[in-house]
Amino acid sequence: MTVTPEKPTTLGNPNDKTALEFERPRPADQVLESRYEVPTDLKGHAMVTSVDSVVAWARSSALWPLTFGLACCAIEMMAVGTARWDLARFGAEVFRPSPRQADVMIVSGTVTTKMAPAVRRLYDQMADPKYVIAMGTCVIAGGPYQGSYSTVPGIDNFVPVDIYLAGCPPRPDALIHGIMQLQRKIRDQGAGKS
Ligand code: SF4
Repeated sequence: MTVTPEKPTTLGNPNDKTALEFERPRPADQVLESRYEVPTDLKGHAMVTSVDSVVAWARSSALWPLTFGLACCAIEMMAVGTARWDLARFGAEVFRPSPRQADVMIVSGTVTTKMAPAVRRLYDQMADPKYVIAMGTCVIAGGPYQGSYSTVPGIDNFVPVDIYLAGCPPRPDALIHGIMQLQRKIRDQGAGKS
């Protein structure tokens, strides 16, 4: 009897490299940047890489976001921790109540002129290295309140932003995608690519 191999399922866009990475996890030696030639008889048993790459890989695999939200986008942010989206799969579910224990600030919701200095203060209290995700059009450019007296025209006027997530609001899936992009950015920095 001939057994037909099971066709791999594709949950998202088959041309999306990030989605494929998620669906088909690769062994560590294919994720980490290989810096040096491994002798042929050791291939598959050992890998050689730099300490920077390993540190960046570990750092990207255990991001701790800061617990705070400013408006409706924060509801979508909260949803990523639920069983349906399960942010724990990406090692970023440990939302910390103190900025001193967090390394990712997800700015989710309208940033008012009154709140912007507080956001900056929280950012300053986070330990280095730290990263910022701007979630939603309000945070990126004021969104529907753009030009109003009360809303800042972009949080990047106050803190450096690593990842911009468009949408009003971005879905929880989009936030997970943003976190995956941030993880890739951190790994690339460790490999000296950026
Ligand atoms: S981008 Fe839309 S959903 Fe997000 S905080 Fe602004 S108005 Fe609310």
